[in-house]
Amino acid sequence: MLKTTPFWIDTVTSTCPISPLPAQADIAIVGGGYTGLSAARTLAKAGLKVVVLEQGRLGQGASSMNGGQVSTGLKEGAPSLIKQYGPIMGRELWEASVRAVHLVKDMIAEEQIACDFKLSGSLHLAYRPRHYDHLARKADWIVKHLNYHEQTLIPKEKLSEHIGSEAFYGGLLDHLGGSLHPAKYLQGMAQAAVTAGAMLCEQAQVLTVERPISQGDYQLETTQGLIRAHQVLVATNGYTGSLVPQIQRRVFPVGSYMITTAPISPRLQRELSPRDHVFYDSNRFLNYFRLTPDGRVTVGGRNSLDPHLDLHESATYLREAMLRIYPQTRELPITHSWGGRLGVTFDVMPHIGRVQGIYYALGYCGHGVTMATYLGQEVARLMSGQIRRSPFMEIAHQTYFFYRQKPWFLPFAAAFYRVLDQMS
Ligand SMILES: Cc1cc2nc3c(=O)[nH]c(=O)nc-3n(C[C@H](O)[C@H](O)[C@H](O)COP(=O)(O)OP(=O)(O)OC[C@H]3O[C@@H](n4cnc5c(N)ncnc54)[C@H](O)[C@@H]3O)c2cc1C
Repeated sequence: MLKTTPFWIDTVTSTCPISPLPAQADIAIVGGGYTGLSAARTLAKAGLKVVVLEQGRLGQGASSMNGGQVSTGLKEGAPSLIKQYGPIMGRELWEASVRAVHLVKDMIAEEQIACDFKLSGSLHLAYRPRHYDHLARKADWIVKHLNYHEQTLIPKEKLSEHIGSEAFYGGLLDHLGGSLHPAKYLQGMAQAAVTAGAMLCEQAQVLTVERPISQGDYQLETTQGLIRAHQVLVATNGYTGSLVPQIQRRVFPVGSYMITTAPISPRLQRELSPRDHVFYDSNRFLNYFRLTPDGRVTVGGRNSLDPHLDLHESATYLREAMLRIYPQTRELPITHSWGGRLGVTFDVMPHIGRVQGIYYALGYCGHGVTMATYLGQEVARLMSGQIRRSPFMEIAHQTYFFYRQKPWFLPFAAAFYRVLDQMS
């Protein structure tokens, strides 16, 4: 029978100590995903009393259910970062994405997180011949303007050395990409935050945040009671509700869905992914896929931006995508189908910001394994005075008058992307 829970959580047991709600903290963090836990670890290491308030289980948002793909770059391509923000800021933003991969690698080593992490390469696959020309131009541009040499262009005739699929026209391999087990990474990060001295509270939904004028502290009303804190960080990304309406208006949820097959033979694993890369294609409605550590095929993507798709329907769509890529998997049963929410901003950039003195870090647009870890650390350093500036706080974070609580425009954006994919 098809399970509609994330495959990853079947293979993880949480052993991390959970705290009762304290009455007071230096810093209260709303949201127990990569952003919140990375920030908690950094703040606790700086000697601050920090508490993470998670409305459900730690990692119950996107952080235990994602594709576990590690990659450099942001959703916005490097050339447009330079064009939009200028050569200095654009370069700083892009280089942060490279530093983010190193941060994940170093944190896993330092905290001894057993999460099947490997930098075995991330292959961006050309879905059409002209997409390959675009990848080739991009590779040249990145070497010339950013001096980044970790990429290899793979023409179609050499592609069989990297993937057992006839569906693509070449690719661009990033050697600084790879994979991890997202739920094991989440648990390891939670344990690292606790080891550093942070308190983690589950089933503690934050209902209101206020700052009475008489006291300097924020007062947070949660489903477990009240807590006071000198500072507050909102780390709720694609699950941001109306807690702070001005933050909600700066990010909207987009659905992303995944399936996993039953385990496949070692021979078929070698055929489908001879070098154990992770893969994603060049469409706007892209598919991302890889093998799991226990040798299953897992495929992600969407055919709509809706965060509420039926999980049997999304499984059907994703299985069709899988068969276009790997016809060899036709007989494989699908064991799991699940979906979660990306946090997307109008400029598709991650942001750190402050509203009424409350910090936030969000908007990774599908690059959160590395970037949420990175921005969690960066916002924590800002809050604790270890750094004075971040480019992610300096770039303007716009919203639009037409977006209040419901992202009603998603079906229109989806239709537009579908047309662009057909024309490209
Ligand atoms: C299906 C899928 C596949 C993906 N694949 C990849 C991938 O391969 N590579 C990659 O880099 N990125 C991927 N992503 C994106 C990545 O998972 C996210 O960017 C990242 O996990 C964001 O982490 P976060 O901590 O900011 O948010 P989340 O992990 O979403 O955590 C936010 C938390 O806030 C909590 N919360 C919300 N409101 C409240 C409240 N009022 N009180 C208390 N708690 C609250 C939620 O319960 C949630 O746990 C994928 C995402 C999805 C959904």
